[in-house]
Amino acid sequence: MIVVMEKDATPDQVEHMVQRVQEMGLKAHVIQGTERTVIAAVGDERVTKAEALESGPGVAKVLPILAPYKVASRELKPDPTQVRVGPFAAGAGVVGVIAGPCSVESEEQIMASAHAVKQAGATALRGGAFKPRTSPYSFQGLKEDGLKLLAQAREATGLAVVTEVMSPEEVDLVARYADVLQIGARNMQNYRLLEAAGKSDKAVLLKRGPAATLDEFLLAAEYILNEGNAHVMLCERGIRTFESHTRFTLPLATIAYLHKKTHLPVIIDPSHGTGHAYMVPDMAVAAVAAGADGLMIEVHPDPETAASDGYQSLNFAQFAETMERCRRVADAVDRVICSMEEAAV
Ligand code: PEP
Ligand code: MN
Repeated sequence: MIVVMEKDATPDQVEHMVQRVQEMGLKAHVIQGTERTVIAAVGDERVTKAEALESGPGVAKVLPILAPYKVASRELKPDPTQVRVGPFAAGAGVVGVIAGPCSVESEEQIMASAHAVKQAGATALRGGAFKPRTSPYSFQGLKEDGLKLLAQAREATGLAVVTEVMSPEEVDLVARYADVLQIGARNMQNYRLLEAAGKSDKAVLLKRGPAATLDEFLLAAEYILNEGNAHVMLCERGIRTFESHTRFTLPLATIAYLHKKTHLPVIIDPSHGTGHAYMVPDMAVAAVAAGADGLMIEVHPDPETAASDGYQSLNFAQFAETMERCRRVADAVDRVICSMEEAAV
């Protein structure tokens, strides 16, 4: 942390701040500039209430240096983390693809989806059994029956299962059936849920809140990591902006920023990120080109009749073609899309 003093700060004020910094267990280096004095405070400032120093006498501002998140930061772990769950892997040069319907609707629908996405090259199946819907009158999911169908689809295909958990009380139930706990955008800052997922031994896919900054996103991940669960993936699914041509705005610069700041894998969800099926293939390909560690794509046997998010879901043929394009791009940027065959080796 750097404490920048006012131009007219007195030597007494500088000395006072040096003492305050030392009381916090940090080392103070006074740097006398031509214009003003700054105090570099060295040590782990995250355990202290460093921001409060800004109200000290003669202080102009306090600038943090270390990231406010710790376990998630690259400073702590320079090597990228790869999350592996059954045949699925994401991170450290491997791109994992999670695909399937927005919601689990029926045995027929989820089984057909599982076989089709596996055939096209996905290694994880998605499908919501507990659905966070904007309206209480919309389809809320099949709940535990949906989880059972997902487990049945895993049994039949070997795909890893990714599904959302909406409350801390339901973590144990969902973890009984799922391989990856999805924490949805609306729950990104549900701290009790993050802690409960952090206590679970299942991997977690944390989706970015549509109005959360990337630092808030990383701090949310920190809640999970801090409980001892190291298998966390960050999913960019679009943020709310003034633009109305897309459901959300999908910032692919998130990939570059997060790769710089954290070792955790970054997954892109072009389905929620755009809200239009015709945009999904191009954004999926762009995400792979930009270095994404994984994709989460909504795929439905008949998007027109989907119980939720049909307008942004690909049909089987569109998904297969998208995978083909993604493989070509992955190859061009020296990355591999994880496959069932490789996982079996
Ligand atoms: C979903 O993945 O179906 C979903 C509800 O996503 P989000 O939490 O990103 O809105
Ligand atoms: Mn959806």
